[in-house]
This record gives sequence, C-alpha cells and structure tokens, in this order.
Amino acid sequence: MSGSLSTAVNKSVDGVSARPDHEAEIAAVDLWTRAIERLKGRLSRHTFQTYFEPIRPVSLESDELTLAHSSKFMIDWVRDNLLDVLLQDLEAQHGVRCAVKFVVRERPFSDPEDSVSTPAQQTTALVTSSDPPPSARQLSINPKYSFDSFVVGPSNQFAVAACTAVANAPGKSYNPLFLYGGVGLGKTHLVHAVGNHALQKNPNSRVVYLSSEAFTNDLIHALELHKMPEFRARYREKCDILLLDDIQFLGNKKQTMEEFFHTFNALHEAGKQIFVTSDKLPNEIEGFEERLRSRFQWGLIADIQPPEVETRVAILKKKASNDKIALPDDVALFLGTHIRSNVRELEGCLIRLSAFASLTGAALTVDLARDVLKNILVVRGDKPDVEAIIRVVSEQMQVKPSDIKGDRRQQGIARSRQVAMYLTRKITGLSYPAIGEKFGGKDHSTVINAEQRITQIMGEEPEFRNMVESLLRRLNG
Ligand code: ADP
Ligand code: MG
Repeated sequence: MSGSLSTAVNKSVDGVSARPDHEAEIAAVDLWTRAIERLKGRLSRHTFQTYFEPIRPVSLESDELTLAHSSKFMIDWVRDNLLDVLLQDLEAQHGVRCAVKFVVRERPFSDPEDSVSTPAQQTTALVTSSDPPPSARQLSINPKYSFDSFVVGPSNQFAVAACTAVANAPGKSYNPLFLYGGVGLGKTHLVHAVGNHALQKNPNSRVVYLSSEAFTNDLIHALELHKMPEFRARYREKCDILLLDDIQFLGNKKQTMEEFFHTFNALHEAGKQIFVTSDKLPNEIEGFEERLRSRFQWGLIADIQPPEVETRVAILKKKASNDKIALPDDVALFLGTHIRSNVRELEGCLIRLSAFASLTGAALTVDLARDVLKNILVVRGDKPDVEAIIRVVSEQMQVKPSDIKGDRRQQGIARSRQVAMYLTRKITGLSYPAIGEKFGGKDHSTVINAEQRITQIMGEEPEFRNMVESLLRRLNG
C-alpha cells in the first residue's frame, strides 16, 4: 500500500501536476496510510483491495481529511460501515482527531487510444480469452465470484439453475437469459460465475463482460473516435458470450439501445449467448424499447429474491471462512436474523465487525455485534424510532444527540435538528405536535418550519440533498 500511496504523491492526483497544495496532500497520504495500515494485515487481501486500495487521500487541511473515490456507492459504503471504526482507531493509536470529507473523482484515463477503458470502468471492461486484450484493458471477470462461492437457497435457486445451464451450454439453453432482482442480491456475482465457468469449460470462448453504462461509454467513445467498425467487431464478431450487467441503465438511451438491438440480433442469429441483468423487469424499465422488450421474451426471465434467514446465516459463514474470520455460530445467527435487507449489507456488517474486533482486540461476541452495529441494526431492521433517527443524524452531522433535542440555536446544531425532524416526519409519519414532543417539547410550528426549510435547502444545494437522501435511505434500510 505504501508503494502506491507514495506514487500518488509523486504523480499527483488526476494527472494534474505542480499542485500548490502538495503539502496538504503529503499530510493526507501520511495520515491515511496510518489509518489503514493496521487494517491491512487484518482484513483479507480481497476485502482490502476492494474497499481500501481504490481510496485516494487528497488533502489534509485544518483537521479535515479529504478522500477521493471514483464510486459514490463505495464512498457511502465506507462511510456507513467503516469510517467511524477507523477514526476511533486513529485517535486511540496516534492521538489524531480529524473530520473526513469524501469527494467523487474519476480515475485518470489510462490510455486515450484505448476506447474501452473509460474512467468508470474499474470493474467493467472486457475479457476475451483467446484474443488477449490490450494491456490497458483490465481483465475483469472476478475469479472470486464463482458458483462455488455462491450460497444457494430457495430465494435464488431458480436463478442459479438458469445460470448454470447457460454456463454449461452457452447459446443453447436459455438465450437470452434475463436475470432480475433487487440491489445487492447477487446478480453481478452470478454474471461473473457464468463467465468463470464458461471460460473454465472452454478456455477459448470469448467472453465479454461489462455494465450497460460501460457499453454506453464505449459507444460514445467509438463514435467520437470514428471507430465504429472496431466497436461492432468487439461485440458482434469477437464475442461468444455477452454478459451485460445492469441493463436498466439503457432505458431512455435511444442510440445505445439501437446499437444494442443490432448487437443482440447479430449475436442471437449466430447462436451466441446473451445474458443480461437488471433490477427491473423488461416492462418496468422506463424508456426501454418495445422491440428489445419483446426480444427478452424469447428467452428466460429469472428472478432472484432476498435470502431467507437460513441462507443469510449460511452466506455469513461462507464469507467469514473465506476471509478467515472466526465467526461464532451465535454471532452469525444474530447478524443473519437482524440484517435483512440484502447480502451486500450483510457483508458490510461482517467486515465492520471483524475490523472492529481485530483493531480493539475485543472478542467477537453477540454483545460486541450489538454494540458495534447498533445504529445499523436498529435502522435496518424494523422502522426506526425517533431516538434512532436522532442518533444517526448526530453521528453524520457531528452534533450531540442532547443538542439536537435541546434549544441551542447555533447554526450547525439548529440545522441538524431540522434534518432530524424532517427525517422523523418522513420515516415515522408522526404528527407535527408528536414530533415536537419527542424533540424536547417543541411547538408544532417549529417542526413545520424545519420540514419546509430542509425541503428548500435540498432544492438549492445538491450536496446537502445527497446527504439527507442518503440518511433517509440508510434509515429506511
Ligand atoms: P447485485 O449485482 O445484485 O447488486 P452483487 O452480485 O454485487 O449484487 O452482490 C453483492 C455482494 O453479495 C457480493 O459481494 C456477492 O458476492 C454477495 N452475495 C450475494 N448473494 C450471495 C450468495 N447467495 N452467496 C454468496 N454471496 C452472495
Ligand atoms: Mg450488480
């Protein structure tokens, strides 16, 4: 890690050289290296690479550490699951206290000649085994996402059966295969599993994996650079299995859909496999062309549902054993019972908990789990109550719960009070007077004002709005 961090210093961020705030950057790198060094030895290589290595320290100025990541999603994940654990550790180990600000920043272009590797493509590039991709193009079928590492239960067995059939006989059984299901339920995992399995069976088969966003970007690139023949060759001629993840993003993108339609036809006629995933059914995707919709009726539409408690526990145990985390049965059961939303959340909690236990040396027990995950457990289980909302807002906005319920009018405090009231109204639907009561006996007009004010600021400041919406999502589970 220190190697790549020091290169970040020398080369500067985003290819912008000669930055005046070099010192702030070095300070950030130094602090961030310390923040994560203890974790590095304790988390598995995979977890560390997935969650921490892509984060780039940008600057440390007046106790504010700015970190950059190319994915908004991962930023939220780190913030929700690990940030407080890391900060506590920094304080305990090095006596450093700082606030953290995240910024979304694309990675620098690797090679302008390479039409496929647009910035957002960390995880979305091409794989062709017999036709080795140019070096800048990342091999991106993740070997960890295999059928072996996928836990099968009633919620997903149909999907797994369909995927297995496709992987065993691409183009022969279900073509196209359309897999749909909610966020974090294993769609991307299964896409990779199909790719892995097909390549294992036939190392010469040309598997192309990418997200529909990457497909869109690649198309735009090809149009700009007048490289449409290469583009078409890539997806039509040089492809035996096309794995297109998150096809819902194609909705309303007319030109991309047009191109995809022809790609689809060319592949299908040639007996090549098409496998797509989506978080919506074809007829629920807004702005999705009728002719594409009907194409997907030709094959099989398989769904994947949220796992039942037994499957959740089995998944936790498998993850723990893969990551060499000694997870006692009662803790697995506790987590599996309380975290119901999706598998990604489950994973997040497990990593957070094991990071916490190893950093503090505490034993991994149900009590520890309850303690470390208290906000998450309350909010991801049943509807959160006002206390839980206040706790989450206080954590996010760095204001004491007692201040949120109190009367102080200092701007930061007043604002977090308003946010908490706004969220309480949205989530619990309690009446204005009842909410006022819960916030230390305020008048109902204060609550109404808070709601109006927050709505207004959300309309004016996108960053603020993002924050409130992410709190709302978190609280709603
Ligand atoms: P989706 O693409 O549906 O949003 P992912 O495939 O990214 O979801 O899954 C989120 C995480 O959960 C991944 O790390 C994946 O490995 C894991 N996961 C999901 N379902 C299972 C399962 N049944 N067994 C093992 N891991 C799973
Ligand atoms: Mg996915």
